[in-house]
Formats: sequence, structure tokens, C-alpha cells
Amino acid sequence: LVTLEGVGKSFGDNRVLSDVDLSVEAGEVVVVIGPSGSGKSTLCRCINRLETIDEGRILFEGNPLPAEGRELARMRSRVGMVFQSFNLFAHRTILDNVTLGPTKVLGQKRGQAEARARELLARVGIADKADRLPRQLSGGQQQRAAIARALAMDPVLMLFDEPTSALDPEMISEVLDVMRSLAATGMTMIVVTHEMGFARSAADRVAFMADGRILEIAPPDDFFGAPKSERARDFLARIL
Ligand code: ATP
Ligand code: MG
Repeated sequence: LVTLEGVGKSFGDNRVLSDVDLSVEAGEVVVVIGPSGSGKSTLCRCINRLETIDEGRILFEGNPLPAEGRELARMRSRVGMVFQSFNLFAHRTILDNVTLGPTKVLGQKRGQAEARARELLARVGIADKADRLPRQLSGGQQQRAAIARALAMDPVLMLFDEPTSALDPEMISEVLDVMRSLAATGMTMIVVTHEMGFARSAADRVAFMADGRILEIAPPDDFFGAPKSERARDFLARIL
């Protein structure tokens, strides 16, 4: 579904991604871990072209990422992104937040978009919050609303960049549970997270990044059972 070949990216003379190869199949869940500053967020942002790359290429559904215009907008609408900060529209209800994309971008009828939004809010467990404003929800509920909003666009790929890092501990599991059930439906997912329990239980493969490179990529049992690089062993020793 997505292929990165020899991807390189610098900000000025700071080389942030070096020679990144990654191929994610449809239905696969790849969890990306690694120290702060290793390029995990940049990798996600390059995949939906929020950042441009300097070297290599990225294929989405077999085609190079469109550079601009309608083609880029169409491609982006097929990639859902969920960030650490929920980025909900503060002055819109939860229901509006979820229906805005489908009505404005996909041209869905209000009624159709609303029915689907209610279905998605139920799926993430906040059906009763549809008419609330974001600030009236807990962090975990807001993040689940953000996931519903992304799903309303019918993405074929979901990118999660540390979706639980801003949450109080007791709210982390409710978001991870939603992500687990999403993975179980066959959604293709790239998830940057420090939640190693999630990586173990939900990932098909774990990618370990350091200094802008993917140093290891392997199924979780192999990776956690016997990390091959010194860097990965150090990282795990500190985090676990
Ligand atoms: P964290 O775990 O802290 O989120 P990360 O692995 O997501 O880290 P990135 O955010 O991808 O790391 O950052 C990688 C490097 O790129 C860092 O050195 C960062 O300072 C730099 N960087 C990221 N975005 C920009 C930008 N827009 N302009 C300049 N430098 C940037
Ligand atoms: Mg980051």
C-alpha cells in the first residue's frame, strides 16, 4: 500500500531521515519506535506529504505521491492522521467535527455524513457526546473523537503519531483499545508510540528508528525477544 525507497530528508544541515526503506502491505500494522528526535514524526509527515523529501521516493497505492493540487488532496483524504494533540475544532460540536470533512471535502449530503458520524462515534464509544464541544470531553474522549473524524473520510491508511502521549494514564487504554479494534478490522496502520504493550499485541512488525534510519524491523516477538542492534537494546532497557 505504501512503499518508501531510499528516502532522505534534511532540515538545513540536519539530516533527519537517511536511506529509509519501508513497505507496508494492506492490512498491516507497523509500530514505529525510537528515541526522541530519531525522525518518527517526520517519517509520518512525509508519507502524507506534509513534508517533502530530498531523496528517494514514496509510492502510495503504487503511484508516486502527487506534488500538489486535486490529486494531492485526493491522496490525503485517503490517509487518516491522528496526532498527539487532538486538533479538534474547538468551537464545533463533536458531531460537526466528524461530519465537516465528509461534507466539505467528499461532498457527502449532510444526512448521510451525520448517520455515518453517529455510527463512528458509537464505534469509538462516545455516541452520547455527539452534541458536546471538545472541551467538554476528557482527553481520551477527544482523542477517540479525533479517530472517528479521521475514519469518517474512509481512509485506506491511518497514521498515528504518539496518539496517547498527551493523555493521563487512565485514559491511555481506552484509546489503545479503539486502535486495537481498528487494527482487527484490517485497517492498514502506521503507529508511532511508546506503548510497548500495544506494540507487542497489535503490531505485525515493529520498526526501530535511530538517527533517521530504520535500524531494525521485525515482528514484535522477534524484535522484543532479541533486538539485534546495540541501540535498540539500550532503548528498550531504558523504556521497559
Ligand atoms: P519525538 O519522539 O520527540 O517526537 P521524533 O522521532 O518524532 O521525536 P522528529 O520530530 O521527526 O523526531 O524530528 C527529527 C529531527 O528533525 C529533530 O532533530 C527535529 O529537531 C528536526 N525537525 C523536525 N521538524 C522540523 C522542522 N519543521 N524544521 C526543522 N527541523 C525539524
Ligand atoms: Mg515525534
